[in-house]
Amino acid sequence: MAAATSTDSALQTYEQVAAASNEVAGLLAKHLKTETQGEVMFSAADRGRYATDASIYQVTPLGIFVPKHAEEVATAMAICRDLKVPIVPRGGGTSQCGQTTGVGLVIDHSKYVRNVLNLDLHAGTVEVQPGMVLDSLNTSIKKHGVWFPVDVSTGAQATLGGMAGNNSCGSRSIAYGNMVHNVLGAKAWLSNGELLDFSHFDQSSGRAKEIGEFVRQLAFHHQAELQTHWPKVLRRVAGYNLDIFDNQNERPYTNDGKVNLSHLLVGSEGTLAMTQSLTLKLSELPTAKVLGVVNFNSFHKAMDSAQHIVKLGNGSLTAVELVDRTMIDLSLKIPAFAPTIRTAIIGEPEAILLVEFAGTDKEKLKLELKQLVALMGDMGLPNSVVEMVDDAPQKNLWEVRKAGLNIMMSLKGDGKPVSFIEDCAVPLEHLAEYTDALTQVFQKHGTKGTWYAHASVGTLHVRPILDMRRDGPLKMRAIAEEASALVRKFKGAYSGEHGDGLCRGEWIEWQFGPALQQAFVQIKQHLDPLNLLSPNRMVNPPKMDDTSLMRFGNNYKIIPIQTVLDWSAWNVHNDAATEETTLPGTGQDPAQGLAKAVEMCNNNGTCRKFDAGTMCPSFRVTRDEVHTTRGRANTLRLALSGQLQGGLESPEVKEAMDLCVGCKGCKRDCPTGVDMALMKIEVQHHYNEKHGLQLKDTLISNLPRYAHIASQWPGLMNLRNQSPLLAKLAESLTGLSAERSWPEWKKEHFFNGPRVGVSAEEVLKASKPVILFVDTFNGYFESENAWAAHNVLSAAGYQVHIASRTKQDTPGQHLCCGRTYLASGQVSKAKEHAQALLEALLPFAQKGIAIVGLEPSCLLTLRDESLVMGLGEIAETVAAHAVLFEEFLAEENKAGKLDALKAKLTPAQKPILVHGHCHQKAFGLMPSVTDAIQLIPEVKVDLIESSCCGMAGSFGYEASHLEVSKRMAEANLLPSIRNNKDACVVADGTSCRHQIMDGTDREAIHVALLLAQHLQK
Ligand SMILES: Cc1cc2nc3c(=O)[nH]c(=O)nc-3n(C[C@H](O)[C@H](O)[C@H](O)COP(=O)(O)OP(=O)(O)OC[C@H]3O[C@@H](n4cnc5c(N)ncnc54)[C@H](O)[C@@H]3O)c2cc1C
Ligand code: SF4
Ligand code: SF4
Repeated sequence: MAAATSTDSALQTYEQVAAASNEVAGLLAKHLKTETQGEVMFSAADRGRYATDASIYQVTPLGIFVPKHAEEVATAMAICRDLKVPIVPRGGGTSQCGQTTGVGLVIDHSKYVRNVLNLDLHAGTVEVQPGMVLDSLNTSIKKHGVWFPVDVSTGAQATLGGMAGNNSCGSRSIAYGNMVHNVLGAKAWLSNGELLDFSHFDQSSGRAKEIGEFVRQLAFHHQAELQTHWPKVLRRVAGYNLDIFDNQNERPYTNDGKVNLSHLLVGSEGTLAMTQSLTLKLSELPTAKVLGVVNFNSFHKAMDSAQHIVKLGNGSLTAVELVDRTMIDLSLKIPAFAPTIRTAIIGEPEAILLVEFAGTDKEKLKLELKQLVALMGDMGLPNSVVEMVDDAPQKNLWEVRKAGLNIMMSLKGDGKPVSFIEDCAVPLEHLAEYTDALTQVFQKHGTKGTWYAHASVGTLHVRPILDMRRDGPLKMRAIAEEASALVRKFKGAYSGEHGDGLCRGEWIEWQFGPALQQAFVQIKQHLDPLNLLSPNRMVNPPKMDDTSLMRFGNNYKIIPIQTVLDWSAWNVHNDAATEETTLPGTGQDPAQGLAKAVEMCNNNGTCRKFDAGTMCPSFRVTRDEVHTTRGRANTLRLALSGQLQGGLESPEVKEAMDLCVGCKGCKRDCPTGVDMALMKIEVQHHYNEKHGLQLKDTLISNLPRYAHIASQWPGLMNLRNQSPLLAKLAESLTGLSAERSWPEWKKEHFFNGPRVGVSAEEVLKASKPVILFVDTFNGYFESENAWAAHNVLSAAGYQVHIASRTKQDTPGQHLCCGRTYLASGQVSKAKEHAQALLEALLPFAQKGIAIVGLEPSCLLTLRDESLVMGLGEIAETVAAHAVLFEEFLAEENKAGKLDALKAKLTPAQKPILVHGHCHQKAFGLMPSVTDAIQLIPEVKVDLIESSCCGMAGSFGYEASHLEVSKRMAEANLLPSIRNNKDACVVADGTSCRHQIMDGTDREAIHVALLLAQHLQK
């Protein structure tokens, strides 16, 4: 919702909200609208999207406020205070225990309040706003050789305010400590509006000093309980840090032993004060690292070894991280991770430990690695260590380890790994006994847990698989009781990393005893007497298994619908103990598998990242929760479960899907494989059923049908491009932007030009046969690409047959995959076209002949959507042989079949800069593009690290999307091209080439044309 500038619009908002919810919500919205410039969101869909985080809980807030400026947080707090509305502070919303779910007003800091305020390299400190994401900070200061070392797995999306809220801990906490060890100061508002500077107690004054005194006396009063009840491990994050005045942590909170009052706020989960800024301690960035991967044939042995391994390194040991057998197996099944994990294992280990040494001198570190090898030999495990000295393999393996939770969450079916005892910390000497005993507890309850993470500090992540719609809550309670008894037996900490939230709030008193719990109550009352900040969380929390607070609680029901695509692969049950899934279609989903596909989103927030990969271009531009893949998945879940009026056909769903460019980035980058591009087709179909098609959709989707007629009248058809007036008129009629040129029609094109290639009969008998599938766009608008592909393949010695229609009853001669119809949800029409294409290609596929395509989105439709359109076995057969032009060449080259072609290619004259089409990236095909280009002698090729180009079929042509489309392109793609003036730009997507031309005036070319241009004349 845009910010209001006038009292009128505020009044309007008030009336809407008051009518939709209640009087207080209406007043709240009105005041926020009139008194701030921030974004004020009170719709059911927005509230639903902010009702969840990466936990199992769901609590719907009254509304959401996204402050534009830090001071507006104070204004919002004042309004809430007046109206007695509770406040829930929020960063990236990646908490695993429900910390950011609550009634009241959610204040989301992640969009605007995310700047570096002061970088003091001399002092080694940085002051940041709470919404700043960890990785953005580290990227911006890397050039100075420093970093903020609390390296949480969610570093690409977790905010520093959220990390301080949870007292987060990274994989390298054995070397750097937890968040509390790295925060030097915090400016924060109390709920009464006072802005305090929480830093050195000695130097504090006024109210901050008084608070410090109060806590100091409490600590003094409770000295005995602190000594007896406080866990003496590094990883204890439960409750408030009362021990800042009497340190119980393995590691001192401060270097000089003095008390820092900001540490009282760290780990308080937004219940004591609202952080305005944080001062953080920076560390020297290690310039050298080595990694030893120890392979164990028994899990117990791995656990038992950790206590000895941590003694290595002479201060250079920075991590000992566990990956167990199940995690190894799951990683091996994920194409993106399999090659990496294979580099780390010897045979079939039951567990591996990743042991990292870091510093400034690689040679010295290599000696530490040798010490590790020697230690393992002494422990009866010779030849068990894979030594990784180079940086690249280490980095790849850390990526797999960081994806640990997400790898586990990819399990289909209602049983999911659940966070509630996932980060108990026990002293290392008990780690093996503890993990054995807990494994038995899981078995007793008919489930199992996958173990991974921080062996160095005794905090192992484990999540038993539970079905939270059925007996999950009961089992959760039973397992928690038994796990807590083990933690007590081994004198560990029940909450060792992810915080308390809803799932561990009730265990705070269990951990510390009633006296210390009472001290926590007093701290809360002293700092927040109004009980405004996240009430009922650290103090007076609800029961962990209160199903009324759960996402899949008692009333969660899916509304039956008939889907147009086949979602049966998701419609399965799983077995908690074996993780086996039942046959597709047996999962009893009333939405035929669509709901279960949507529910794969566990809200972990990876789709909020900005670094490598494609996901999610629209969020990267808007930074709005609604435009994350998560926001869309949550909206669909609400719609499918009757929590959003109007269901899939509602305007809220339309809004959430509007900026999804169908890039399939999420299909590859989302750790649980949420395929929003496919969901968009399904949703669009339902929307069309109710609301009908828009003119622009009819125009664009039918282009393959009328192309053969339109191309006969190029003069007339291209008039619109020449007349701004006509372009404006067309915009008002169709919604297609006047600013964009339309593809130019040509009278002569590939389909009516000179016939090339051999006949169907000939190709079936040929020694080097290949089928070229020429799509509508390359055939009618850029015929040179189709001819180029033919020439290159012929030069390589292939007999090329141009696929054509076998059915003569449909107008036009060329074949079409149906993509233009799919883009607007017209699945039955798409199916007609795809059916004709498949029938034409089947005889060749059955003979094992490769079917080569040029346009990534068209060819890859055969390997993706065609398989879920109910086209039967024929679709599978063709998909198995459908390849992109560059993919074909790369594979043939590997097989040594391109020597003839290579001999005919002339050396490159210019460096090549490649932009990958999103669908190429989604299918992991970019290496084949560079491989194909590297057939050219002396070529230098670079990939642009870009997300979607923003054109995405017709998306960028639409007036309503023009700005977003341009911003997507400007994020990386266009600046990279402008910065490489001499390079030849290669882009295989038709719309990508269009966007590049529009944005830089540079002509990008298809890889087929590039190769053809290098053929000797
Ligand atoms: C897949 C996965 C992996 C994870 N790995 C790790 C890990 O390695 N280590 C780890 O420690 N955690 C991990 N977590 C948990 C979580 O990501 C981290 O705790 C992270 O730091 C939370 O950051 P956030 O921005 O999402 O915070 P949020 O979840 O938005 O908020 C966290 C807490 O901080 C409070 N808060 C936010 N902003 C403010 C503010 N301005 N003032 C006061 N309070 C505020 C919130 O109310 C909440 O209580 C993981 C989670 C997932 C889903
Ligand atoms: S869509 Fe995928 S990446 Fe995004 S929160 Fe959901 S599961 Fe995570
Ligand atoms: S398809 Fe692309 S734009 Fe749509 S949700 Fe997935 S990553 Fe985002």
